[in-house]
Parts: sequence; structure tokens; C-alpha cells
Amino acid sequence: MEKYKCKSVGIIGCGIQGVCIGLQLIKKGIPTTIFDRHDPLSLEFQPASYGNAGHFSPYSALQFNRTDILYDVPKMLFSSYGPLALKWNYVPKMIPWFLHYLKNCNKKSMLHTAKSMNQILSLSNDAYEEIFKEIDVTNLIDKKGIIYVWTKKNLKSRELEIKVRNDLGIEQKLLTQKEILKLEPNLKPVFDAGVIYESAMHARNPHGILKAIFKVFLNKGGKFIQENIMSLKQINENQTIVKSEDEEYNFEKTVIASGAFSKNLTDQLRENIPLDTERGYHVHFKDMDHLISRPVIFLDRGFGMTPMNQGLRAVGTVELGGLKNPPSKKRIDYLIRCAKELLPQLKTHQDEWLGFRPTLPDFLPIIGPSLKNKNIIYAFGHHHLGWTLGAITGKIISGIVAEEKTNLDLSPYSSKRFN
Ligand SMILES: Cc1cc2nc3c(=O)[nH]c(=O)nc-3n(C[C@H](O)[C@H](O)[C@H](O)COP(=O)(O)OP(=O)(O)OC[C@H]3O[C@@H](n4cnc5c(N)ncnc54)[C@H](O)[C@@H]3O)c2cc1C
Repeated sequence: MEKYKCKSVGIIGCGIQGVCIGLQLIKKGIPTTIFDRHDPLSLEFQPASYGNAGHFSPYSALQFNRTDILYDVPKMLFSSYGPLALKWNYVPKMIPWFLHYLKNCNKKSMLHTAKSMNQILSLSNDAYEEIFKEIDVTNLIDKKGIIYVWTKKNLKSRELEIKVRNDLGIEQKLLTQKEILKLEPNLKPVFDAGVIYESAMHARNPHGILKAIFKVFLNKGGKFIQENIMSLKQINENQTIVKSEDEEYNFEKTVIASGAFSKNLTDQLRENIPLDTERGYHVHFKDMDHLISRPVIFLDRGFGMTPMNQGLRAVGTVELGGLKNPPSKKRIDYLIRCAKELLPQLKTHQDEWLGFRPTLPDFLPIIGPSLKNKNIIYAFGHHHLGWTLGAITGKIISGIVAEEKTNLDLSPYSSKRFN
């Protein structure tokens, strides 16, 4: 007897969401095809899932829809040496996103986001551990915790973060400067204190992990087609159509997992979803990964460093500027200055990279069916936490496709909140 009704699924996007969804669907015996404009096994494949900081951060429930951050925004924007930057030509296009953000920047929404993020974050590492049973993660993952450091400047914000995490029962260990230097002796003590999440892990090679998952997907019978998808439509209860420039493909259900580019597709479905992007950057300092043993994030600067196989990755900052503006040299310079502030022994860097975090103004992802087209399912908007949330999103979306029951409350992730 056939257990699942679904006959076929197409997934648009082979970032960490798409590949994890694909793997879970194929494991349920549902014929699945993933589309991406780049081959995940090639060097051209460099989406957010390639260049991120590699943190698996289940502790990061508290997000950026907070009044303490909102009040700091003007100061940060007008400082050339700040964690937040703006491409001024993009300001008019960003207004709808910003108005939604203002609406969600209050204590009630902040706590709603934190609680709803915590629901899925608390399941995120276990979901990955299931996948790690199927791939060889030797030299791809380190389990040494993640450290955040800060100065005394924004202690009110730090106290808020610590309190919300305590209230949610998230394990955290506060550290003095001395204790941090004992763990990471190469750091210059330009910070005053910090916190370690001891059970956190990090990727030494996010692309390597994604490729390994992709290969399991293919080995189990999944299909991949390298195409730029131009449009999609639900024809009837049993059929969706996905179109590239030259071809047309039919599936019973289609999943949009196109990261920050998902809005190009949801706009065609006439759902007004205020998805935008927070641009982020990285550079590598080759052969310098031995300088720290685990990721170190300097909260005052909005940047971090992760020891990876490609070198020491200096990564972060937020730039509001859309998908089309060219990279900003100033942001790269900022990252380099920040990295050298903590590790003055760093010299030349390689690999300047710009990536696009897919961010909704309430800092919750959209995970669930389209409101008007039940056979089109959304899986995007994971902002700063999309790497962490890939595996659990895969499980949730495959459950939705297969019409399984869940104990999770999925209502906070519905696109209904914007319509
Ligand atoms: C600087 C930076 C640091 C970060 N650090 C972390 C971190 O430490 N931990 C964490 O959890 N998260 C982190 N993130 C966030 C995380 O990387 C993203 O949220 C996550 O990778 C998004 O995954 P995705 O699969 O939704 O999108 P993506 O990785 O962007 O993948 C989307 C894919 O869809 C394809 N695509 C889009 N449109 C089409 C189309 N029309 N046709 C065909 N293909 C299409 C693209 O080519 C792409 O491959 C960071 C992000 C950045 C930028």
C-alpha cells in the first residue's frame, strides 16, 4: 500500500534548505528533482549556504527586532566603522521592509520571535546529527563551542540577550576576559567579557557539508537539473508547472527554497511577502585557522572569525542594499580591520565574497504552504540562521509535503502573517 499521496516534487534552489528538503523527501520515497542555476558540485556555486560563518547556533533565538538595536541604527549607519551599512540607492526599495520591521520592533514581537525561533532551533542539531549518520563529517565539523566577546559599551543589550536566553532555558556560560584568553590565547584583549556556548559546533567547510548531503540525495535516486527557473504556477490540485527559459516541468508539488531570491517567485503568485536581504561578506586568511580553536564573534563589531579548511574566515556585517548592487570595498576593509584588531598577526587576505541573507522583517522564516496555491510550499527567509536551520527545515517541509501530523506549532512561520 502506498504510504504517501504525493507523486512528485520539484524544489527551486539547492542551498542548505533545498538540499536538506530533497534528502528528506527522497528518503520518504517521493520522486524529487532539485533545480539550481549553479551546479552545487562546481566552484561557481557560492550562495549564502557556501560562504556563511558555519555556526550551528541553536542558542540564537533572540533576533534583531529589538528596540535597543533600532535606537542604535542611525548611529551605526552614519559611522564608517560600524557593523551596519546602507546602499543609499536602495533606500526607496527597502521602505516596505522597514515599515514592517518598525511594526515588529517591540517587546511583544521580540519575545514572539524568540519563542518561535527557539521551537525549531532546539531541534536543529538533532536533525543534523541524523544526517551526519549518512555522511562522513571527518574534518568538516568541529565541536569546541562558540565564543562571543564584547566591551562594556552596550551592556544593556548584553544583559537583555542573557536574560532572554536564560528565560528560554538556553545553556550559556559567561566568561571573564581572563577566561576567554585562556581558551583563545592569541586574541588581543580589546574586549571585556563574553559568553561560550559549550555544546555548539561549527562547520570547517559549509560547502563540503552541502556537497556531501547533495551526493547522498543523488545516490538515493534524487534528480538535479541545472536551470534558472523563471516562473511557476499551480495548475490544479494535482499539478504545478515550473518553467525555465527553454523548458517546462510538471510536478504534483513545488517547493520554493531559493533563499533571498525567493521573492522573484512569490511575487508571481500574488502574495505580498516582504522578503529582502541583509548582505554579508567574508574574506579568508589562508593557513591562519590555527590562531583560534573555535568561532569567535565580536558583538560590538557585528563580525566574527571561524577557523575553516580554507583558512581563517573573517565573516559578517549587515549591509542593506538589495540583490543587484555591486559588493562594497568598504565592507571588506571593515572586516579586515576588525579581524586584525583581534588578531594583529594577520597579514594578507584572499577570497572576497558577498552573500545574501534572506530576511523577513519579523526575523522568522516562512515554512509552509502558499496561501493561494496549496501545492506550492515555501521554505525561505532563514536570515542569520539558515545554516543552523537547514536540517530541521528539511524535516518539517517533507512532513508537510507528505501530509504527516506534527506536534510543532507551525503557525508562526506561515506567510499569513503578511497577508
Ligand atoms: C555572511 C553570512 C554569514 C552567515 N553565517 C551563518 C551562520 O554562521 N550560521 C547560520 O545558521 N546561518 C548563517 N548565515 C545565514 C545562512 O547562510 C543563510 O540563511 C542560508 O544559507 C540560506 O540558505 P537557503 O538555502 O535558504 O539559500 P541559499 O543558500 O541562498 O540558496 C538558494 C539557492 O537557490 C538558487 N536559486 C535562487 N533562485 C533561483 C532560480 N530562480 N532558479 C534556480 N535556482 C535559484 C541559488 O542559486 C542558490 O543556490 C550567514 C549568512 C551570511 C551572508
